[in-house]
Amino acid sequence: MTGIYAENSEGQFKKAVLEAASYASQIGNGQIVAVCVGQPNAGEADKLAQYGVNKLICIEGISAFDAQVYGKEIANVLINQGVNQVVFANTYEAKSVAPRVSVIMNASMASNVIELPETSNGFKVKRGVFSGKGFAYVTLDKANKVIAITPNSTELKKQATSIQIETIQSSGSAGSTTITSTTKAGGKIPLTEAEIVVSAGRGMKGPENWGMVEELAEILGAATACSKPVSDMGWRPHGEHVGQTGITIKPNLYIAIGISGAIQHLAGVSSSKVIVAINKDPEAPFFKAADYGIVGDAFEVLPKLISAAKAAKN
Ligand SMILES: Cc1cc2nc3c(=O)[nH]c(=O)nc-3n(C[C@H](O)[C@H](O)[C@H](O)COP(=O)(O)OP(=O)(O)OC[C@H]3O[C@@H](n4cnc5c(N)ncnc54)[C@H](O)[C@@H]3O)c2cc1C
Repeated sequence: MTGIYAENSEGQFKKAVLEAASYASQIGNGQIVAVCVGQPNAGEADKLAQYGVNKLICIEGISAFDAQVYGKEIANVLINQGVNQVVFANTYEAKSVAPRVSVIMNASMASNVIELPETSNGFKVKRGVFSGKGFAYVTLDKANKVIAITPNSTELKKQATSIQIETIQSSGSAGSTTITSTTKAGGKIPLTEAEIVVSAGRGMKGPENWGMVEELAEILGAATACSKPVSDMGWRPHGEHVGQTGITIKPNLYIAIGISGAIQHLAGVSSSKVIVAINKDPEAPFFKAADYGIVGDAFEVLPKLISAAKAAKN
């Protein structure tokens, strides 16, 4: 049987989880069971049903996120359900939970998977490696398999069914860490889930000039991001730093303003579907990675882009 981990954020299933459901129903040939921690909001389970999930099991009694506890509890449910292949959306949470589930299930595991498997000779998946600079083809040889798919890389295919919801109590596994407090990252749209990202670098000269970047992002319904030096200097919060040492993103559109395009920056953004670079230096390395380039001063180009985006929106 095929299962998914249905991560929820304040009771909501994000698009990445629906992609996992869609992937699971394309590789599975029977019931698809989803496991979530806590209760989803009203109507959320129906979203999973749209992508082929027949059963949702909600684990109650886990008070806070702890990867060890989640790993044990989720794996127990999956094993009890007779699941032999599990699909995760490769989110931050899944990066620590999926390997633990894989160990408990004695499964073969592949993360960063970007395509449906090739099953004519074994179970072969394509995965992104070296921060998206290359691909590896990997066979999952054990009977049990854990596959973590990169958000925004596989197609959502509807396969509507009806869903049965069951609630069970956690077995009470003890955690090894305690969350003492949390601070929610700012920004209206979480960077890792954004379809469009407007990002800026040192070319913006100072934090006082970010109004234009935010305005363009607001009009486009985009999240904002920045290069490492920008967050190091405190111009923008660290949660916006993308690249090798920051967040890796894969939006449909990445707009880079006044960012040189150093290899460490590109490592986190080069898998974006379409890249637009705006830079006053025609030799800036970003132009080699970009699909579209605008050679010009950001302080002249941005106001024009903002008014064109406003006009297009209206
Ligand atoms: C181990 C290591 C890890 C790193 N990890 C990361 C990482 O995760 N993410 C990251 O971003 N960097 C990372 N870096 C730093 C990286 O090497 C670059 O130094 C950094 O990305 C440069 O940031 P920038 O492009 O904003 O600034 P700069 O290199 O200073 O480039 C500014 C750009 O703006 C352009 N510009 C200037 N004025 C204007 C204007 N008015 N209009 C338009 N364009 C203008 C310039 O032509 C230039 O191309 C890392 C470095 C190391 C050594």
